[in-house]
Amino acid sequence: MSKHEYDLIVIGGGSGGLAAAFRAASHGARVAMMEPAELGGTCVNAGCVPKKAMWLAAELSQRAQMAARVGFDLPPPTLDWREFVVHRQRYIAGIHASYRNRLDAAGVVQVPYRARIVDAHSVIVDDGTRFSAEHMLIATGGRPRRPDIAGAELGMVSDDFFNLCAAPARVAIVGGGYVAVELSGILQALGSRVELFVRGPRLLDSWEVELTTALAENFRQDGIDSHFDFNVESVHADGDNQVRLRRDDGQLGERFDALILATGRSPNSEGLGLAAAGVVTDGKGFVVVDEFQDTSVASIHAIGDVTAAPALTPVAIAAGRKLMDRLFGGQPGARVEYEDIATVVFAHPPLGRVGLTEAEARARHGESVTIYRTHFRPMLHALADSPQRSLFKLICAGDDERVVGMHLLGEGTDEILQGFAVAIKRGISKRDLDDTMAIHPTSAEEIVLMR
Ligand SMILES: Cc1cc2nc3c(=O)[nH]c(=O)nc-3n(C[C@H](O)[C@H](O)[C@H](O)COP(=O)(O)OP(=O)(O)OC[C@H]3O[C@@H](n4cnc5c(N)ncnc54)[C@H](O)[C@@H]3O)c2cc1C
Repeated sequence: MSKHEYDLIVIGGGSGGLAAAFRAASHGARVAMMEPAELGGTCVNAGCVPKKAMWLAAELSQRAQMAARVGFDLPPPTLDWREFVVHRQRYIAGIHASYRNRLDAAGVVQVPYRARIVDAHSVIVDDGTRFSAEHMLIATGGRPRRPDIAGAELGMVSDDFFNLCAAPARVAIVGGGYVAVELSGILQALGSRVELFVRGPRLLDSWEVELTTALAENFRQDGIDSHFDFNVESVHADGDNQVRLRRDDGQLGERFDALILATGRSPNSEGLGLAAAGVVTDGKGFVVVDEFQDTSVASIHAIGDVTAAPALTPVAIAAGRKLMDRLFGGQPGARVEYEDIATVVFAHPPLGRVGLTEAEARARHGESVTIYRTHFRPMLHALADSPQRSLFKLICAGDDERVVGMHLLGEGTDEILQGFAVAIKRGISKRDLDDTMAIHPTSAEEIVLMR
């Protein structure tokens, strides 16, 4: 029997913390979880879930417009944003209730306070209560980072986007990462006029360049104006709640009704007592962990966005589960494999990737890399004479043309990619794709028909 009152303390009830708490409890561990805010963390409250809801609303709007183009008698769609938010938040409230019930059923003690680590086995929470455990898990996630420029407080960050009750008429979005891309597409589809201000020369700089170029073209067709190599020096209030951006060459831009700063996220590692407990963080504040999610202190572990792992919900969940299988489930080698993680950006259209980009593959596999690609118009877009095009790209390596990367831009790719991610993880070759019968007529069939 442990000398501590709990086997595990989980700090943070987001994607990773909840998954870890459930898994530990299922192995018989006594678990306490500290979470001062709503259960579900970023993903449920200010990330994946409300974002996807807004993306679905945007999709419906675009579909309704296409329906009108092919003969349906429909007026231009307008969204009662407030009503949609009621549906969105009802869905989210259902997730909160489900988590609460599951935590109760699992016997996890819920502590609705912020926690601070006091030593290798204990934390103190906001009301002064102290808890101790054999193991501690830091799962405190991250938060939007405002750029360090004058006037940054005049802009919203992604958390604030979910408090909007209407589409602002003209919106400036600063950033070129996935949050900037996703919010641009959503707002444009729901009636805003969006301009995107990107510091670098392209969108989504770690993604396959051909796809992001094609995405920028799709954005252009949709009316989103992208400004590349644009360094915002400062933000200025102007007139009636409007803002203007000053570029680093001194030019003051046009007025916008709203500004969203999507300039990255920082880990929630401050104020946690990490330094005093001996937990090492890196220069950006991420908790340093090894491949088993162990920190520099043997009893303290960390998962999810507070570490430098890919900031994705399934990654945080998998890390939490594997860690608990190792600590309490008798599986000493359990750990997450961070290779070949499939991911989607919910742009309009969405894009997905798994494995290496062409540049990464060439750096790793040299001359043996072969590339296949196909451009096409999805059938509904062709019928509606919409300019949107899809681009699928396959990266293969070696004599057997093993598939080492798949990059998809186009309608439906968010749902298509998952199955191919399994296949790629199993080590399929181009020949396996060639030998697979197509499902006709679909966009997905293009993947097995590439020549
Ligand atoms: C706009 C947006 C869209 C996204 N879309 C997607 C998507 O489509 N797909 C995807 O996979 N990922 C998406 N993500 C990323 C995803 O939300 C995160 O990767 C995921 O939530 C990380 O989980 P986590 O458990 O590490 O942290 P979080 O979910 O952020 O949870 C951390 C929790 O810790 C709590 N906490 C912080 N400090 C303390 C403390 N001292 N004591 C106690 N509790 C504390 C916080 O209140 C929070 O609830 C998105 C993120 C954003 C911002």
